[in-house]
Amino acid sequence: MSAVEVTAGLIIENIVEGLYFVDVDRRIHFWNKGAELITGFSAAEVLGRSCSDNVLVHVDSNGKELCAHCCPIEDVLHKDGNSTSASVYLHHKNGHRVPVNIRVSKIRDASGAVLGAAELFWPATGSSFDKAYIDELKNAALIDPLTEVLNRRGLDLELISTVEESRRHDIPFGVIFSDIDNFKGINDNYGHDFGDKVLQMVARTLGSNIRSYDHLGRWGGEEFLILARHVNADELKSLAIQLKTLVARSFILVDGEPLSVTLTIGTAHSSAHDSINSMMKQADLNLLKGKNSGKNCVIS
Ligand code: GH3
Ligand code: MG
Ligand code: MG
Repeated sequence: MSAVEVTAGLIIENIVEGLYFVDVDRRIHFWNKGAELITGFSAAEVLGRSCSDNVLVHVDSNGKELCAHCCPIEDVLHKDGNSTSASVYLHHKNGHRVPVNIRVSKIRDASGAVLGAAELFWPATGSSFDKAYIDELKNAALIDPLTEVLNRRGLDLELISTVEESRRHDIPFGVIFSDIDNFKGINDNYGHDFGDKVLQMVARTLGSNIRSYDHLGRWGGEEFLILARHVNADELKSLAIQLKTLVARSFILVDGEPLSVTLTIGTAHSSAHDSINSMMKQADLNLLKGKNSGKNCVIS
């Protein structure tokens, strides 16, 4: 197989649109991953079956079955045109109807003989089940609206996948648990809205100075957690010290005077622990130690 053929095959297999091919008798011979994702039917479940055989059973917006009456594939196969488009509702394996746009093309061999038809289909945008819309909802549920970093739920999900990655591939990681020092005083002296601005400033400084594959989230009120992936214990400590320094060097002007806050940080590294629970406990203990020994420090 030539390199070009491999690339074309891979592209077709991996495009997010659904793509399938039927012969002149409308039997399905090819079904890509996109088609599996959109319809819920695996290739094994549909190959060799007729597309009208209770698989997709496209209907139009009035609920009229297209397979039996005005099938777009049938049209392309047996009429003059080379392609046709339509907006239809296909049948998902779970039973519900999925609005999709389809485009059917006649497929010929080198001599011009018709071999069948290929249908490309993709979810109709604007639908409330549109993937982008679902992603947006997911983001809303996992992002803290004030600081725009992960919320506790988002962090929990990243913790699960980081632990899993670490276990499977033996990749070390660390947690950096930070708490703003004397934050109550900021609220008391400058007001809650100003306190919110400080939280945003700290989150931005932390977020802009971790590596792209680390994760930052708001653990609680004025506490932030950083999940540092692919680090050894020394690198973890250096990262924590650097973040502490950068936050201390961030400031908001109040009546022309710079106002800064400091962080106390506790860290824990996976090499010293059997479970994520014991890591989190250690980071929390280290943070407490830091608070008890005068704050504005990193305890590893
Ligand atoms: P320590 O140095 O020991 O950490 O003391 P602290 O004052 O930072 O800690 P404490 O737990 O006493 O106070 C945390 C404060 O954070 C209390 C709470 O009102 C405030 N806080 C929590 N969430 C928010 C928020 O979303 N916005 C603002 N402005 N304040 C918040
Ligand atoms: Mg706190
Ligand atoms: Mg605090």
